[in-house]
Amino acid sequence: MKKLVLVLSLAILSISCKSQSETATFVNKPSNLHDQPKLVVGIVVDQMRYDYLTRFYNKYSEGGFKLLMNEGFNCKNNHYNYTPTYTGPGHASIYTGTTPKYHGIIANYWYDKEIKKTVYCAGDDTVSSVGTDEDSGKMSPHRMQTTSFADENRLFTQMRGKTIGISMKDRGAILPAGHTANAAYWFQGEDEGNWITSSFYRDDLPSWVTSFNASDASESYLKTWNTLYDITTYTESGPDLNTFEGGFKGKETATFPYDLKALSKANKGFDILKATAYGNDLTTDFAIAAIDGEQLGQDEFTDVLALSYSSTDYVGHNFGVNSKEVEDTYIRLDKDIERLIQALDAKVGKGKYTLFLTSDHGAVEVPAYLQSVNIPAGLVDNKARKESLNAFMTKTFGASDLIESMSNNQIFLNREKIALLNLDLEAVQKRIVNEVITYPNIDKAYTATAMGSTSFSRGIEELVQNGFSQKRSGDVLIVDGPGYLSYGKTGSSHGSGLNYDTHVPLLFYGKGIAKGSTLQKTRIVDIAPTISALLGISFPSGAIGIPLEIVLSE
Ligand code: ZN
Ligand code: ZN
Ligand code: ZN
Repeated sequence: MKKLVLVLSLAILSISCKSQSETATFVNKPSNLHDQPKLVVGIVVDQMRYDYLTRFYNKYSEGGFKLLMNEGFNCKNNHYNYTPTYTGPGHASIYTGTTPKYHGIIANYWYDKEIKKTVYCAGDDTVSSVGTDEDSGKMSPHRMQTTSFADENRLFTQMRGKTIGISMKDRGAILPAGHTANAAYWFQGEDEGNWITSSFYRDDLPSWVTSFNASDASESYLKTWNTLYDITTYTESGPDLNTFEGGFKGKETATFPYDLKALSKANKGFDILKATAYGNDLTTDFAIAAIDGEQLGQDEFTDVLALSYSSTDYVGHNFGVNSKEVEDTYIRLDKDIERLIQALDAKVGKGKYTLFLTSDHGAVEVPAYLQSVNIPAGLVDNKARKESLNAFMTKTFGASDLIESMSNNQIFLNREKIALLNLDLEAVQKRIVNEVITYPNIDKAYTATAMGSTSFSRGIEELVQNGFSQKRSGDVLIVDGPGYLSYGKTGSSHGSGLNYDTHVPLLFYGKGIAKGSTLQKTRIVDIAPTISALLGISFPSGAIGIPLEIVLSE
């Protein structure tokens, strides 16, 4: 009987193929017939050093980081292949599979040579805020020059596969979600405590976002922040009371517990949540609401959820790599990851989605702490550098206004003025390199001309070149000495091409992913091509990475 039905249906199929256009048979079916994950979840943990996986390993539960490490694929030697290692460029590179050289996000803020003003990587004055009256919604990915894998998935599925971006930081949601996202949502703190978006995506908030905002989710986290476990068991970090931490306004010491409700008044209201472990809890609540609200992973077209946890970065900046606050934030984030995976298993189905977890950069230990244990480190004095350089320019070229901007370790020259004075641009760049290399804690310096005319294939030169956009970057590029950076006296920061900033986790888990680990070097730009290969879709337009075959199961 079964055979007869099959023969009959084949006969009908062949007749219908002849009588109708061939494509009609496949309407509403994805054109790739192999078995796709229903959902790709990308998780970026902002400012996560690789060693946070290993340092806090014994404190993690079985269902969070450990599950990804032990049941998924762990790329243990994964690095950024460019500088500067900042949030905007990091998020863009993870999803586009390329570096600032091609995607154009050269920093969070940079001096725009054309309009001669500082611009923000996700800022867009042509769109308006949705969900707030503040300007914090005037954002879009328009400065990112290439596509993300989420964009390619949208094109491939004829816009049937959805993309949603979520992060407390606008740039953490917007750049990964790409140009064609259905929406990206970020957090408006102050006295609002709401998730917002921009008219770039939609004209109003969907009802699931409105009801999430109307719930008391944000308020519920304005409570006391204490360590999850007894603080005396936190043996993987330094003493809670020390001189290397910032802390909150209105509290004398940077020590647990923190009464966030009371402290919120002096610390920009709901914005205080960003710099606590609870910001990640709130982000997880919202992400799970998005899976329901957007019905992610419910049909045959692959959806993309681009999720970025920002609080780890704020806590790191405030308290530093070695703090109890960072340790507690990771112990609690581990619980969030576990909760998210459980929600995905329940709502999308175990084995039906693919997840990866990485970071947008690492972080250096607080320089003052490194100094206290005799490791070379310190703060650079940008003001002094600027003054010395201006004096040099006046003395050498007879003009004090040849430097337009000194930002992100780049020197932007006034090219009109240089032409007017009949100076040779490259010669001026070279003179500056020879001058600034004598300044304290400037380890290396390069001219833009060298970056644009030589191809570097290794070392810091390659990293600088990969971060260099001929169109957008400055005339002279500076590299600070190891352990040196421009930052406040307390807390950690990032931006260099050294291992503490470039070495970040890369974990894959779920559908199509092999179980295992590697110490072979992988690069952040390999992530997007790997996901593209898994989905069988085009690589993002500027992708330079290669698919990590070892990660993919057959
Ligand atoms: Zn970041
Ligand atoms: Zn502390
Ligand atoms: Zn940061």
